[in-house]
Order: sequence, then C-alpha cells, then structure tokens
Amino acid sequence: LGLLFEQTVNKYPNKEALVDRSRGIRWTYEQWDKEVNKLANALIGSGVRKGDRVSTFLFNSYELGTVYFAAAKIGAIINPINFRLRADEVSYILNDAKPKIVLFEQALEPQITKVHEQFPSISFWYIDVSTPSYAAYYHDRVKAAESTPPTIEVSENDIYAIMYTSGTTGRPKGVMHRHSNMVEQSLICKSALSVTPDDIGLVTAPMFHCAELHCCFLPRVHAGATNIIIHHFDPKVVLNTVKEEKVSLLFAAPTMWNMILQEDIQLYDLSSLRLGLYGAAPMAPALVNACKEQLGIDLVQAYGMTEMGPAITFLGKDEQLSKAGSAGKACFNHEIRVVRPNESGPSEPEDLLPAGEVGEIIVKGPCMMVGYYNREKASEEAMYKGWYHSGDLGYLDEDGYLFVADRVDDMVISGGENVYPREVEDVLYEHEGILDVAVLGEPDEFWGEKVIAIVVRKNQNLTADELEYFCKNSERLAPYKRPRRYVFVEELPRNASGKIQKFLLREGLASETIN
Ligand code: ATP
Repeated sequence: LGLLFEQTVNKYPNKEALVDRSRGIRWTYEQWDKEVNKLANALIGSGVRKGDRVSTFLFNSYELGTVYFAAAKIGAIINPINFRLRADEVSYILNDAKPKIVLFEQALEPQITKVHEQFPSISFWYIDVSTPSYAAYYHDRVKAAESTPPTIEVSENDIYAIMYTSGTTGRPKGVMHRHSNMVEQSLICKSALSVTPDDIGLVTAPMFHCAELHCCFLPRVHAGATNIIIHHFDPKVVLNTVKEEKVSLLFAAPTMWNMILQEDIQLYDLSSLRLGLYGAAPMAPALVNACKEQLGIDLVQAYGMTEMGPAITFLGKDEQLSKAGSAGKACFNHEIRVVRPNESGPSEPEDLLPAGEVGEIIVKGPCMMVGYYNREKASEEAMYKGWYHSGDLGYLDEDGYLFVADRVDDMVISGGENVYPREVEDVLYEHEGILDVAVLGEPDEFWGEKVIAIVVRKNQNLTADELEYFCKNSERLAPYKRPRRYVFVEELPRNASGKIQKFLLREGLASETIN
C-alpha cells in the first residue's frame, strides 16, 4: 500500500490530493507524501516497529488519511477505532489490539481520559491544541521529523490493518487484512466505479469503516484523484461541499442518503456529481428511486462485509431498474454461493441451493481476511473450508444476481413461515409518511413470533391503521408477513455504518422502554 501511494505521488505530484477545508489543508500528492513520510519517521522515532499496532480514535480528518499511509510505509498495523464507541468499548479494543500509539482528538477526549490510565505502555497522541497532560501533541512530533522516505521493507503478505467489526452480532472482532488484500480491493473498486484522476471524491462516511476507506478513499488515491474530507456527516455541509468543490463521487450509507433527501435540494447545484455509491446496509428500492429522481444522479450499490475487504458485489448504474432490490453480481475474481443453512455449525459449501431459493451467502475471493485477531476458533468457523460464511441470507436469481434477504439472526419465524424483515421494510418505505423503519420479530404465544414494525414518521398524523391498510393493499406482502403491531419512535438506533441496531430495539421492547 505504501508503494501504491508512492506510485501515485510519482505520477501526479502536483495534483490536488487531500483537502480538509475546516482545517485549512489543501495538499498536492507531493506535499501529502512529505507529511506521510514525516509521520512515518515520527512513529519510528517513538519506537513503533514493523508489526506494531497504531490505533486511531478520530473522526474524519487529514491526520487520519495520513496515518494510514504512514503506517503502511513502515509495516505498522493500522487499527481505526469507531468514533462512536464508549470508554469501555474503546478499552476492550485497546486490550485486544495492544497498540503502541493511539491518535485521538478533542471531540473524543472524554473517552480516552477515562481509560488511559489502564494502558501505561501506550503513548497517546493528540491532534488538537490544548493537549491533555497524559498525551503528546501530534503536530510537534510530526514537525520535528524528517521528510525522507522510510526504508523499511514491507511485503504484500504483511498485515496492514486490524479493523474491529461493529459488534452488531456480538463482541467486536478484529479483522486482519494484508496489504495484498487491499491492493486487490482497491483495483476492484477503482474499476467498478470507473475512478479517474479527474474525480473529486467526498469523504463523509466514517473513514474508520472499510466501506469509505477501502471502496472509495483508497481507489481514489490509487487513481490520483482528489479527496475532500468532511469531519462528520451533515447533509447541509455535504450538499454545500458538493456544490463548491464540484464533487464527482460520493459514497453515503442509506440513512445518509435519506437525510440528504430531506434537505431543500433545489438550493444546491449538484451537476458535478457523476456517481453516488450506496451500501454497507440495506437500502429500500423506494429510497434508491427517490435519490435517482430527486438528485438526478447515477447510483451504484456495493454489498459486502469487513471480513471480505468489504465489497463482494456491485450493482451497476444501468442495472438499478432492471434488477431493483438486487445487490448485483460477484466482483472480479470472487465466487459467491448460496447454501443450505446449517443450524448446528457452519453451512457446508457443497450444499448448494438452486436459483431463487434463500440460504446462507458464502463467498471466496482475493480480499478475504487473514482471520480474526486473537480468535483462531472464530476464524476457522467463519472461513470454514475456505469460504467466508457471511451470516446473511439471500438468493441468486437465474442470471447470477444476488438478492440479500436479511441477517440469519434477524429472520422472523411466524407460524412456521419465514419472514425476511427487509422485504417488509422495503414495502413500508414506499409509504410517503415513513422516514425510517425497522421490522423485527416479537415473541408471541400463538405464532411463536409475530412481525412488528418500529416506525419513524415524517409527521405525527400517520397512524397504525393507515399503515395496516397500506400493507393489506400491497401486492407484495402475504398476510403472514404483515406487521401485527406498529410502534412509533423518534429515531432508530444506528451504528456508524448506518445499520439499524436491532438488538437495541429488541432490548427496548423486552424492557418496555419501547412500546
Ligand atoms: P458485525 O459483523 O458485528 O455485524 P458490522 O456491522 O460492522 O459487524 P460490517 O462488515 O460493517 O459488519 O457489515 C456487513 C453486513 O452489512 C453484511 O453482512 C450485511 O448484512 C450488511 N450489508 C452490507 N452491505 C449491504 C447491502 N448493500 N445491502 C444489504 N446489506 C448490506
């Protein structure tokens, strides 16, 4: 990855590379490279050696963009931590990853202040002024360092990152990726999104997550394009920056697209946007259509998971209508199968299901993780017989297009019938009064489980009766799939990559804090 970066620097030294408007940074590739080298040398000077972990607890920033390549150049392993995590969760990851250095910022200082004493062997580096007494000021360290390139040899088989899953399915696990995995992922995404040196990409989704980092940021650096960094997502800031910086590429998770659509779009000239990427979580076809119509842009979908780098399928811009609801076809060099789920262990890769039948999605490809850090058994299970077992349910159609139904754990079994919540959510999203919705199963004495919908309304006039009437009249919902209960809430809990945290909703329902 260090080499990939240097090749771009050699090819496009004077092209604008990294822009962090709120911090007054506009660097060409040559300027950025110098900063990367300085940071790499500063890390070496502070005792970071090949294989050591460097953690970041940062929102999007030019420092975060810089440390990725600085670590890559010296063979250190980057460990980006989700900025939404609380102190205990951060402490859990630091205990597991055991980094040498943690970079953090003012907005996240309270969490680090609570835990730093537990980690006397870690150096904490702070990127803002007014550095707390237990930390070093990042910019002092970098300023004092040389800008000559470090001379450490890094192989494509070395580990480049440990990225912790968000833990929607249990305790976070550290996914290990090699340099070669990410070069492949970058090539795949660069080609799927046709990234060119003329592209200007907006970095607004969290950079600690592989969807933004590996599918967008990295391919743009690979291509010699420009990256404009926004500290955190704000729909008005996004629209304004697209207008002012003439952004051509934008990735946003479904909930972000939804928030963008709630703005007064007419106020912004978005004509520079040539492509919008969505994914990382299910996006209802109704929302995809609304984006296409109201924003007037082409859209591409990516489906995947941290363990696979992440992208394993793409649905191209010309397939959005003909294959609505599909996640697309397998990426270059990837093989996808749908197999019969096995309740007592990992599904057998040979137990293939015919087209149209729902089963577990398993996948093989060059970007597959090396394994989970410190978790041999979980790694073996997840990559049973060389196939990554996604825990997602779905089917392949006759043409080889993948349709993701839901997470195995989210499927509702009502009266013996399987209900995939996503299918019900997609129908409800077509109701114009619904802003956000989550469908899940609730224990029921008679049916085993019953389907319920937790709804965020656009306005308070929307009633459960109206939604019941709407679902009854939908040609796409068999009676057993219809929600038996509607619960109205102000907001749905989502993780940083936009996934609804259904376990929190289940807890809320069980404890009757949601009813
Ligand atoms: P955990 O594995 O603990 O849930 P996580 O949520 O961080 O952690 P990610 O790798 O971010 O894991 O998410 C992967 C999951 O996101 C996929 O398995 C799938 O369920 C969902 N997902 C990603 N892209 C899409 C998409 N385009 N459509 C539907 N679901 C998607």
